[in-house]
Amino acid sequence: MSKIIAICNQKGGVGKTTTAVNLAASFAALEKKTLLLDMDPQGNASQGLGFMESQDMDIHEILDMAGNPDNLTLENIKPAILDTSLEYLKVITSGPDLAVMEIELVNAMSRERRLERVMNVLKQEFDFIIIDAPPSLNLLTINTLTAATSVLIPVQCEYYALQGMTELFKTIREVQKNLNSNLKIEGALLTMYDSRLSLSKQVAEEVRENLSDTVFQTMIPRNVKLSEAPSHGKPVILYDVQSTGSQSYMKLAEEILNKEK
Ligand code: ADP
Ligand code: MG
Repeated sequence: MSKIIAICNQKGGVGKTTTAVNLAASFAALEKKTLLLDMDPQGNASQGLGFMESQDMDIHEILDMAGNPDNLTLENIKPAILDTSLEYLKVITSGPDLAVMEIELVNAMSRERRLERVMNVLKQEFDFIIIDAPPSLNLLTINTLTAATSVLIPVQCEYYALQGMTELFKTIREVQKNLNSNLKIEGALLTMYDSRLSLSKQVAEEVRENLSDTVFQTMIPRNVKLSEAPSHGKPVILYDVQSTGSQSYMKLAEEILNKEK
């Protein structure tokens, strides 16, 4: 059974893309067959793996193809599945066209289930599919939550960390009720934690009080290597494997795998 984890938070800059790229790379390093799917028109996850320009075929074409399920075969999707520098990690990229798709989808049939159809074809091929969601609660995010088996919520250790959480959990409940009754909460992940700052500690405590056991034990520290790695087109594990950033994403992957057991 493959696991499809949506990385979601409608706030920008909380560590979604960093988490998507580096969690996917950590699973791949553990020799799990992993796909990173970029669902953000900004394409940051694609760029973080070195795909700086729009590819011939990306998630936009595939979602378009999914409008007619007859066309949706593994054969037809394969050209969009690209190799990365890690043997076990593949990627489907995104680009600005996806923002246009979001608008086109509004009046389309089964507009919420396009990505789910794609996942039904792809899931047999992978152990883990990690989806980097856009910073909004739009139709692309609804597609992501409908296609996923669980959702991971990065929470930045900053003021207003919990702002927007009510709205996000409401959206998740709506999707569970109407579109995907199997959707689980994988957990909330504290990101950019700085142990030298009392603010970081306060926020971490507050988040643990509010979301209790949904919060992962593993916290992601603020680490400059995590912010430098994307400009080299690499996950941090290939940029500086010894860094605290690299080690913490490895720990997160292990925590998720241990929960499965
Ligand atoms: P989102 O996808 O939610 O918008 P990003 O993952 O792009 O957030 O992170 C926002 C910015 O913060 C990026 O410049 C990224 O490199 C940086 N960043 C994210 N996580 C960390 C971290 N743990 N330590 C240092 N910088 C980080
Ligand atoms: Mg992002």
